[in-house]
Amino acid sequence: MRCPFCSDMDTRVIDSRLVGEGDQIRRRRECTNCKERFTTYESAELNYPRIIKSDGRREPFKEEKLRAGILRALEKRPVEMERVELAISQIKHKLRSQGEREVKSRLLGDMVMEQLRGMDQVAYVRFASVYRSFEDVRAFLDEIERLENELPPELKKSQLDLLPSDGDEN
Ligand SMILES: [Zn+2]
Repeated sequence: MRCPFCSDMDTRVIDSRLVGEGDQIRRRRECTNCKERFTTYESAELNYPRIIKSDGRREPFKEEKLRAGILRALEKRPVEMERVELAISQIKHKLRSQGEREVKSRLLGDMVMEQLRGMDQVAYVRFASVYRSFEDVRAFLDEIERLENELPPELKKSQLDLLPSDGDEN
């Protein structure tokens, strides 16, 4: 990259280190022309819109947080990690392709629900119940009803899991 002091195009990296939780790289650079040194920060998060939380606060998109939320919903469910990683990369792709600098956390939640729906219905309902909270309790019950009606006969047994059961959640 161009030297900020003399605008020479030839600079070299003399030191690289991870910053914070490791989602940023700090590079110390030196201009080969004027020998001035400067620092650059590289962060993949810049590619993603910031997430607007329901209280209006903004936070950077965190892949680990997304993964943790999905895995929590999938706890003890028969879904392969490979499938989970695929869902995560699809969500990330979708986030980037929004072309927005900021998106509501609601939109991200909808993307997760869309993925879980095609993956595991129990996980889907678990996630929905946490994420949609009580503000949408009517819509949530409608959704459960719709899911139950859509279930093919061979899945009627696991349909029982859709209801909060004793000892299953802690
Ligand atoms: Zn220079």
